[in-house]
Amino acid sequence: MTRLTLLAGGVGGAKMAEGFNMLKDVELTIIGNVADDEEFHGLWVSPDIDTIIYTLSGKVNRTQGWGVTDECHRALDVLRELGKETWMFLGDRDFGLHIYRTERLRNGDRPTSITDDISKQFGISAKINLPTDDKVQTKVRTIDGWQTFQEYFVRDKCIPEVLELYYDGLSSSSITPEAETSIINADLIVLAPSNPLVSITPIIEIPGFKKALRKTRAPIIAVSPLIAGKVVKGPADKMLSSLGYRPDALGIAEYYDGVISHLLIDEKDYRFSESISSMGITPHCQNILMRDKNEKERLAREIIEILRSLETKI
Ligand code: GDP
Repeated sequence: MTRLTLLAGGVGGAKMAEGFNMLKDVELTIIGNVADDEEFHGLWVSPDIDTIIYTLSGKVNRTQGWGVTDECHRALDVLRELGKETWMFLGDRDFGLHIYRTERLRNGDRPTSITDDISKQFGISAKINLPTDDKVQTKVRTIDGWQTFQEYFVRDKCIPEVLELYYDGLSSSSITPEAETSIINADLIVLAPSNPLVSITPIIEIPGFKKALRKTRAPIIAVSPLIAGKVVKGPADKMLSSLGYRPDALGIAEYYDGVISHLLIDEKDYRFSESISSMGITPHCQNILMRDKNEKERLAREIIEILRSLETKI
C-alpha cells in the first residue's frame, strides 16, 4: 500500500484525486485548499473542498467539473427575487451542504472534523484533511481595487488583470495536526496540477507546512497545470504572467523550486527537461491531460510507477 498525500485545489485537484482514488494499492489523503472559502447568504461556502467531495462521492456535475449533478436553483431564485446578488451560482442540493457546515461551525466544531464527517457520510474512502482550521482567504487586487477570490473568479470571470495577491489570515494561521501527520508519514507527496498561486500556495505557506515538507522522507512531485504554455482551464497562465512568472512548465519548476524534488510535465514540454534538471528538480515527461476517468487513472498509475522506479534505485 502506498500512502499518498495529494495537495489539491478545486477542479484540477479533484481530477487528480479521482485518478488516485481508483488505484487499489493507494491509501489516499487529500489536503485541500480553504483559501477560496467565502460567506454567501449567511452560509460558509468552501468551493475547492466541495468540488473534491462531490467528485469523490460521484455527485459532481461532470459537464462543469464542479457543483452537484441534477441540480436546481430555486433557493437562488428566491434570493434574487428578494434583491440579493446571486452571481455565486449555488444549487439547492449544494445549499444543503453549506447549511450543514455553517450550523456545525456555529456550534464550535472544528472545520477539519466537519469535513471528515461529510466525507464519511457521503461514502468517500479517501481522507480529506484541511491544511488549517483557521480562516485564510485569498484577496486579489485588480484595477478596481481589492476583491475576494470569488468576486474575481466567479463575478468578474477572471477578466481583470491580477496585479497583486494577498492571503488574508495566513501569517497567524497554523497547520492542522492531521495535515502535518499526513505529510510526515507519506510515501509520496503529489502537488496536483492546480493553480499554483491560489490553490497550492495558500496550502504550503501555512505556518508549519513547509517545515513538515522538509521533514518528510517522501519524494515531492508536482504535476504541471500548464501544457505547451496554456492552462487546461482557468486563469493560472494569465495570473502567472501578470505577476511576473513564466507561464509555462519551466515557470512551474521555478515557482516550486525549493519545495519539490520531481516535476511531471507534458511530452509537449520535453524541451524544458534539461533546464528543469539543472535546477536540481527531476523532470518526468508524460501525457498529463486528463479528459476522462481512464486518463485520470493512467496518469495516477504513471505517478506511482515513478515512485517505484525511485524505490528500486535506492
Ligand atoms: P480551481 O480551484 O477549481 O481553479 O482548480 P485547481 O486550482 O485545482 O485547478 C486549476 C488548474 O488545473 C488549471 O490551471 C488547469 O490548467 C489545471 N488542469 C485542469 N485539468 C487538467 C488536466 O487534465 N491536466 C493538467 N495537467 N492540468 C489540468
